[in-house]
Amino acid sequence: MTRFDYVIAGAGSAGCELANRLSENPAVNVLLVEAGGQDTSPLIAMPGGATELMGDPATAWHYPTRPFGLAG
Ligand SMILES: Cc1cc2nc3c(=O)[nH]c(=O)nc-3n(C[C@H](O)[C@H](O)[C@H](O)COP(=O)(O)OP(=O)(O)OC[C@H]3O[C@@H](n4cnc5c(N)ncnc54)[C@H](O)[C@@H]3O)c2cc1C
Repeated sequence: MTRFDYVIAGAGSAGCELANRLSENPAVNVLLVEAGGQDTSPLIAMPGGATELMGDPATAWHYPTRPFGLAG
């Protein structure tokens, strides 16, 4: 069974940077787990595509939050 020194949840900006730095040490085993799918949508590479992607449950998690910001 493979054992890991670090398990990182989420291969987003922070997770990828963390995994990259930790795995620079060849003695360290890093597991990076990502729940999202492939970034195959052409809208992802399109600057104006973000607004479409935000409303799509295939590309945004839509986790509920507490009210925040000036408008609550
Ligand atoms: C439309 C838009 C445009 C942006 N433009 C810019 C920009 O131009 N410049 C800039 O600096 N910032 C920009 N940002 C902000 C930037 O994207 C975020 O601040 C940054 O990605 C946050 O990094 P993070 O690692 O915290 O989260 P994320 O990058 O969101 O990574 C979190 C990862 O965790 C995964 N995940 C979630 N739940 C689980 C789970 N249970 N198990 C495993 N994996 C999971 C997600 O799929 C995701 O891949 C933009 C944000 C948006 C929404």
